Amino acid sequence: MTLRFPQFPLLLLCFCCSVIIAHRDEDPVTKTMEDFSGYPIDEPHSFFQKSLSLLSVDTESLQKEIDELAAFSDTPAPSVTRILYTEKDVLARRYIKNLMGLSGLSVREDAVGNIFGRWDGHEPELPAVATGSHIDAIPYSGKYDGVVGVLGAIEAINVLQRSGFRPRRSLEVILFTSEEPTRFGISCLGSRLLAGSEVLVEALKTTVDAQNRSFLDAARSAEYAKDQDDLSSVFLKKGTYSAFVELHIEQGPLLEEEGISIGIVTAIAAPASIKLEFEGNGGHAGAVLMPHRNDAGLAAAELALAVEKHVLESGSIDTVGTVGILELHPGAINSIPSKSHLEIDTRDIDEQRRNIVIEKIQHSASKIAIDRGVRLSEFKIINQDPPALAEKTIIGAMEAASKELNLKHKLMISRAYHDSLFMARVSPMGMIFIPCYKGYSHKPEEYASSQDIANGVKVLALTLAKLSLH
Ligand SMILES: [Zn+2]
Repeated sequence: MTLRFPQFPLLLLCFCCSVIIAHRDEDPVTKTMEDFSGYPIDEPHSFFQKSLSLLSVDTESLQKEIDELAAFSDTPAPSVTRILYTEKDVLARRYIKNLMGLSGLSVREDAVGNIFGRWDGHEPELPAVATGSHIDAIPYSGKYDGVVGVLGAIEAINVLQRSGFRPRRSLEVILFTSEEPTRFGISCLGSRLLAGSEVLVEALKTTVDAQNRSFLDAARSAEYAKDQDDLSSVFLKKGTYSAFVELHIEQGPLLEEEGISIGIVTAIAAPASIKLEFEGNGGHAGAVLMPHRNDAGLAAAELALAVEKHVLESGSIDTVGTVGILELHPGAINSIPSKSHLEIDTRDIDEQRRNIVIEKIQHSASKIAIDRGVRLSEFKIINQDPPALAEKTIIGAMEAASKELNLKHKLMISRAYHDSLFMARVSPMGMIFIPCYKGYSHKPEEYASSQDIANGVKVLALTLAKLSLH
């Protein structure tokens, strides 16, 4: 760490020199900057190629870090379980902060534990360019989801530093707190707060986990949220970042199937979640005859089919809907269900189209309740986030980077959502996908090859370089 810090005055000096020296052709720093930028390039093609060849990823170290981080887990390998503010989460955070320090980044944390590692550009007053992802892992999941976008981001900074690049805008690596909803039922907790969610600040004051431990208490145990009223301090000021780019495994099979190295995300589908309950009279499975029943389980079954129907009616392949939870009470073979509980997830890249599906589901739930003589005792829309579009300049930078690196790429939609969905509210946003084995994610078999990760890191590095000079 101490070896790296003396670089900074030197870098600034180098830049000053490049300004003073009018003959920029003779100044290697300026040359490198122009080579990276992709913006007015009046240098011979060979310089450009030379800079690209300097982008080398230390795949061995990166894989070692991925493996080491995976060891901070509450379940045995190859599974990874890392839940917000647990001892393993705190140790993993320490590991990341240490790596950021080793890369010469200045590290800070906010009140909920979003972690920022900053490489100062030579115009540090300009809005910075940020990249990052999450390291929390749902129970019995894998070691690449999110992690590739955090360790890969730190390696992207290393790649740029090794190549001699000097950023104009500062570059920041962000570790987002709790992308997964495991502990407190709130997904993308850190990035939602960064995006300025007042609703979440209020909700967190009374949020508890399954053990009835409050969010604030848990956060304090990890040495965050020291001041109860301080959570709005997490909000990012508008204009903090000129761009945000997240590197992530695809979590779907398309890139692998099509043999494509890089997915450039143009839009992130946004989920809405609905919770609802039907209640009927129940009764003995033998004694109550069919005409006298009001079966809450059959109402649930009928609604599950209605969800599928309404989604398909949208006519777009981008509309999806899932009844992921369907519980029957009392849940005995010889008892007519007196209560059914459903949780429905529906997503689209078109907000209006998705909201129409929600309206239709609500309408069907009411109608089914009447037809079957049950009560719709609860219908609650838990969240209804708007989808996000990637920003054109960032898409352009990612495409240019892939082309220059001779990597096959395609434009695609992210059907899973990510911290980028919320960062898009406060910064222009882009995402880079890399292939993962059979599209597996959220299970121990999750895997991305070192080569695919290295490709993603290179595209990220070059994209950050371009955006930092923009
Ligand atoms: Zn993720």
